[in-house]
Amino acid sequence: MPAATATKPYVIALEEHYADPAVLARTEGGGRGRMGALLDRLTDLGDVRLGEMDAAGIDFQVLSHAPSAIQQLDATESRQLARDANDRLHDAVDRNPERFAAFAALPTTDPQAAADELERTVSQLGFKGAMIHGRSRGEEFHDLRKFWPIYERAQHLDVPIYIHPGPPHPAMAAAYYNDYLQDHPFLSSAAWGFTIDTATQVVRMILSGLFDAYPRLKVIVGHLGEGIPYLVDRIDVSLNRPGGKPIAFKSIFSNHFWVTTSGHFSTPALMCALMELGIDRILFSVDWPYVENQPGMDWMQTIPLSAEDREKMLNGNARRLLKL
Ligand code: MN
Repeated sequence: MPAATATKPYVIALEEHYADPAVLARTEGGGRGRMGALLDRLTDLGDVRLGEMDAAGIDFQVLSHAPSAIQQLDATESRQLARDANDRLHDAVDRNPERFAAFAALPTTDPQAAADELERTVSQLGFKGAMIHGRSRGEEFHDLRKFWPIYERAQHLDVPIYIHPGPPHPAMAAAYYNDYLQDHPFLSSAAWGFTIDTATQVVRMILSGLFDAYPRLKVIVGHLGEGIPYLVDRIDVSLNRPGGKPIAFKSIFSNHFWVTTSGHFSTPALMCALMELGIDRILFSVDWPYVENQPGMDWMQTIPLSAEDREKMLNGNARRLLKL
């Protein structure tokens, strides 16, 4: 990877999505539901994507699959589909190794196979970690013990797991969102539901004892930490009220989590994340193509940080965390 030039810092973005045609074919409606109008861009791993990166000044994307059927299908099909999709993603990285790296998709419905697929993609294909979306089989959060082989392997390989939103639990959607969805279809996803779902996953992971078991486990969360940096003190204090089992919630969050700016280009939110986590744990990302590249790059010009700190966000932190 080339060094930054004097005129423009090198820019790495790491929550940048794509979609694999064979995975889409097994996703409801061929992925035409939520991904709809974005399908042409999601499925492109060449000129369209690179053209938009060049136009905005993004040098490097770490690619990850959009939320898909892989975590929802039975174990046998899920294993094969993930393996094939990861192989095709590796081919795409191989065609443009100076522009792309990859996070693996994992067949989480078979956690042992998911751990093995993580190791195969990292050790043999040069992947930088894996992305896990929402819940598996529609309802299982990934702090459950059965999923711990994945984290054990991630720690062993010293790669991060990126915890990404998925569609909300149907019971949650029914109780909290559905009556407003007609007018506000993104309420249950990017506008609010994703945040609640993913923040809940983070809280559950910390409560589960996962980080006691794997003290060097690294987790990435998008959207400037899904609200947790803003709430971490209240969560910590409240969990430790008399009658609760003591837990070092804030310390665990600060020591194991990195956050990206994906889809959340807000300076007040950045300042909060910065004050809680420090500059070394905040990484630039866009969330392309759900979010456009240019607003993210424009915003980065305006953040009230030193050139050195901006460069950490744009590339230095990612280079260290992902060993690029
Ligand atoms: Mn995303």
